[in-house]
Amino acid sequence: MEWNELLIRYGEMSLKGRNRNVFVKKLRDNIKDSLSGLKTVIIKPERDRMFLYAEDQHDMKEAIARLPFVFGIQSFSPVAKCEATLEAIKEKAIEVIGADETAGKTFKVEVKRTDKRFPLVTSELQQEIGAHVLRSFPELGVKMKKPDIVLLIDIRVEGAFLTAKVYEGAGGMPVGSNGHSLLMLSGGIDSPVAGYLMMKRGVSIDAIHFASPPFTSELAKKKVMDLAEKLSSFGASVRLHIIPFTEIQQTIVSQVPDNVSMTTTRRIMLQIADKVREEEGALAVITGESLGQVASQTLESLTAINAVTATPILRPLIATDKLEIINIAQSIGTYEISIRPYEDCCTIFSPSNPKTKPKLEKVAFYESFTDFEPMIEMAVESRMTVELPLSEKDGFEDLL
Ligand code: ATP
Ligand code: MG
Repeated sequence: MEWNELLIRYGEMSLKGRNRNVFVKKLRDNIKDSLSGLKTVIIKPERDRMFLYAEDQHDMKEAIARLPFVFGIQSFSPVAKCEATLEAIKEKAIEVIGADETAGKTFKVEVKRTDKRFPLVTSELQQEIGAHVLRSFPELGVKMKKPDIVLLIDIRVEGAFLTAKVYEGAGGMPVGSNGHSLLMLSGGIDSPVAGYLMMKRGVSIDAIHFASPPFTSELAKKKVMDLAEKLSSFGASVRLHIIPFTEIQQTIVSQVPDNVSMTTTRRIMLQIADKVREEEGALAVITGESLGQVASQTLESLTAINAVTATPILRPLIATDKLEIINIAQSIGTYEISIRPYEDCCTIFSPSNPKTKPKLEKVAFYESFTDFEPMIEMAVESRMTVELPLSEKDGFEDLL
C-alpha cells in the first residue's frame, strides 16, 4: 500500500494564542529531528493539524514507526490520494480498507465534500462507497456509532483523500515547548521516570549525577549514561553532568552526626544542582522523590532539604506508588537499566538510622561547623559533561 501523506493531529486543544505557535513550531522541529536521515520528508504545519509528505515509501514507513514516540502528537493517520471521481474513490477505498485487518470488525464511511462541485451529495456518496466496500469485504459489519474502522474521505479541489487507520501518538506536549529543567538522575528506578514525565509535559532536560569513586564504580556511571541516553530518545538530546562527590561525602560522614547525614547529603546535592542549573540556563530542578518511600522523603525531610533554595523543585512522582512507577519504567525501557546491580553514592554512605523527621534548625546547626561552600564551588567547577546520545566518534571508554 502506498501512502501519499500523514495527517498528524495535536492534543492540548485548549492552547491559545501565542502558545499555540510555539507549540506547533516546536513540534515541527522535534518531528524533523526524530526523522533525521529521512531525506524525502516534508512537513507542513497548519493551525490544528500537520501534514507530512515523503516521496520515498521507505521514508513514509520509517516515519510511521518513529512518530509514536514524539510528544505532542495526539494521533496520526496515513492518507492515500486519488482522482476525485467516484470510480477512482471506490477503487482506492478497497485498497485503504484492505491495508489492515478486517475480520470481525465494524465500519462506516464518512465523507467531507470540501469541493462542492462534486456531482453526488455526501449521503449518496457514503451509501455508494459503503456498499462497494461491503461487496469486497463481506466480513465487515456496518455500525454508525463507534465502529472499529472509520473510512474518512475528504474531497478537495486537488483530489480525494482517504484514510481509515488512526495510530495513537505519545500525547503530552512537544519537548522544549515548556522550558528547560535539570533532572537529578541517580541510577535508581524513580528519577528516570520523573524525567520522562516532565519531558512528556514539554520540558527539555539536562541531567546531573553525583558519583563517588572509587566507592561507586565506572559501571555505575555507565548505567547513568545509558539511562540519560534512553531519555534522549523521547525528545531532544540530554546533557549529563557528572559531579565528583567523594570528598564531600567523606566530609559529611566525618563532620555531621549519623542520623542527619542523609539530610545534609541531600541539601548539599541540591545546592550543587542549583548552581549547575543556573549556569546551564535551566529554570527548575526535577527529582524522583515519592512521598514516604524512604526516610529522606517524608514531608519533614523534604522541608529540610528544600530550605537551601527558592528554585522550584518538580517532583512528578510525589503521589505515585512504587508499583505505578515500575510500570512506567518498564514501558519506557528504563527499568532494565535501573535494576543493574551497581550501587550509587547514597546507598553506600547511607547511615543505618536516618531521622525520618529531621528538624531544619538542628541540621543547619550541625552543618555550621564545616565550611562546605568551597567544596560545593569545586564540585560544580570540576563537573564532567557529556551529551547523549554520544556521537559516533566518542565511545564510552574515551570518556572515563
Ligand atoms: P531513585 O530511584 O531515583 O534513585 P530513590 O527512591 O532511590 O530514587 P533517593 O535515593 O532518596 O530515592 O533519591 C531521591 C532523589 O534524589 C532521586 O530520585 C534523585 O532525583 C535524587 N538523587 C539521589 N541520588 C542521586 C545521585 N547519586 N545523583 C543524582 N541524583 C540523585
Ligand atoms: Mg536511589
